[in-house]
Amino acid sequence: MTKKERQIVFDKYNGKCAYCGCELQKGWHVDHIEPIVRNWWNGTCEKPENETLENYNPSCASCNIQKNSHSLEQFRENIKQFVNSLNLYSTQYKFAKKYGLVKETEIEVKFYFETLTQQLDTKFVG
Ligand SMILES: [Zn+2]
Repeated sequence: MTKKERQIVFDKYNGKCAYCGCELQKGWHVDHIEPIVRNWWNGTCEKPENETLENYNPSCASCNIQKNSHSLEQFRENIKQFVNSLNLYSTQYKFAKKYGLVKETEIEVKFYFETLTQQLDTKFVG
């Protein structure tokens, strides 16, 4: 990837992570929206056709690492499951909940870029 292409990806959401919306820090990642599925053992990938500029999203390191080789919907589902895991395995979380420090909501997992699309839609309607 050229420096220019990397800059285009960075500018896509004004220097913010496409998923969580945080300000991108040095060492930010270029995510493949539709995964390329890397074969770590020989450096090849299973879907080289997904190696296009349109398929790149700017991502903070932690979102990119969590998303891994998943589609957007698999990534969304994984995030949803975190609450179940916390309830099953984290004593600290269960205590924080019991004492009212943490409250669960039933909100949908929305990615930052999806909220932007919504704002644009609202502008067109309004
Ligand atoms: Zn992020």
